[in-house]
Amino acid sequence: MRIPSVNELKEKFSKLYPNYPISYFTEPSRRVAQIIREKWQKKELQKLEESYLENLMKEVFKKYETPSLKRVINATGVVIHTNLGRAPLCKKAIEEITKVAKYYSNLEFDLKEGKRGSRYVHVEEILKEITQAESALIVNNNAAAVLISLNTLAYGKEVIVSRGELVEIGGSFRIPEVMKWAGCILKEVGTTNKTHLSDYENAINENTALLLKVHKSNFEIIGFAKEVSVEDLVTLGKKFGLPVMKDLGSGCFIDFSKYGLKKEPTVQEVLKAGVDIVTFSGDKLLGGPQAGIILGKKEFIEKIRKNPLNRALRIDKLTLAGLEATLRLYRDENLALEHIPVLKMILTPKEILKKRAKYLLKKLRKLKLKEFNFEVIETINKTGGGALPTLDLISYAVAVKSPLSPQNLQKILRENEPPIITRIEEERLLIDVRCLFDEDYKEIISAFEKFGNDKKYTS
Ligand SMILES: *Cc1c(COP(=O)(O)O)cnc(C)c1O
Repeated sequence: MRIPSVNELKEKFSKLYPNYPISYFTEPSRRVAQIIREKWQKKELQKLEESYLENLMKEVFKKYETPSLKRVINATGVVIHTNLGRAPLCKKAIEEITKVAKYYSNLEFDLKEGKRGSRYVHVEEILKEITQAESALIVNNNAAAVLISLNTLAYGKEVIVSRGELVEIGGSFRIPEVMKWAGCILKEVGTTNKTHLSDYENAINENTALLLKVHKSNFEIIGFAKEVSVEDLVTLGKKFGLPVMKDLGSGCFIDFSKYGLKKEPTVQEVLKAGVDIVTFSGDKLLGGPQAGIILGKKEFIEKIRKNPLNRALRIDKLTLAGLEATLRLYRDENLALEHIPVLKMILTPKEILKKRAKYLLKKLRKLKLKEFNFEVIETINKTGGGALPTLDLISYAVAVKSPLSPQNLQKILRENEPPIITRIEEERLLIDVRCLFDEDYKEIISAFEKFGNDKKYTS
């Protein structure tokens, strides 16, 4: 068998897609030739039919044209899924991002004075308004916020942290390591399950620069356990003239216990307790774009702002636009609950989730796929993203049993366009409805519809 040359394939591609310049097809042609060569070597292909070649070329080209970073459907039920991009943004944020992306903006231009301004002013006022913080600064993400705060407040000095709070957040963020790279000396106190105020007090010496509390974002210590409250730590800090910092992780402005969920400390409460610096993420429970928010006392925030690291960790204009639009919704709690997708998804009543699952069930059963069994089941979700770790949210899913193994079915759905990300429980594939957008349903249905093209699965 003769394998077509790259030049021949380029010509063929040109005829298939006349609107593209021929140079565009060099790489797809190489890929096609490579696939044919491999298939021929493995003896999977003896003869190259024209129709086979054309289909292969179309398939390769479609893949070549699809962006690597793309929309997926989150059917896992995990609202703040770090691997799936954490928080989907609210409509207003998307609008503002689009405007700032398309046109020039006053990013660092003071329109009143007609001279250079600061990029941070755009979110500083609104953050102060919502949280009553004295001052605010935004960096690239919360890891950066912790790093720059530690580096500014305690470079070369000791930072006291409870052993129960030396946490690892997914993706290599570990407090002892961040401490090291910030140039600080970690001073561990207490034990895994219990830390007393006296443990902190006894560890204070002339080289101590900071008292740090880290929110246990993704786990809880239950049973014989004790930790020191922020309030007590603040009192201790005052006594010794030491600043107190809290890494809140997934900071939120809304008290979820009001809505029947578990209590997570809000940003406002932590500030009210008197901490000097609080850090949290923009894209966890807050529901905005990726950002690290630093709030607190003006004297410390100003120092952090002047740290040369700030230039390396600075936030870009698109994030600023999205963050400002998201923050503005928090001026009214109901507005935030109504428009911020992450909040809406966490607080959707289970009756509504059940209704949605039943709707999906009806549509899937209508496809009449042979040997596919669909049913609605109750499931338990985690919010994800290092928030509300021990909270179980009741949700609903369509459970699928099919002639395919659940792993195989999961893979086929993952390779769908758009990919559908699911989970497997008890040998069944689950399509959880909590995080589905209205427009996701038809994609899921049409992904299953494709099984209907295979005679094996039609009755
Ligand atoms: C998530 C988290 C971080 C890291 O935040 P990113 O926004 O992912 O950089 C740091 N500390 C705590 C406690 C967290 O929960």
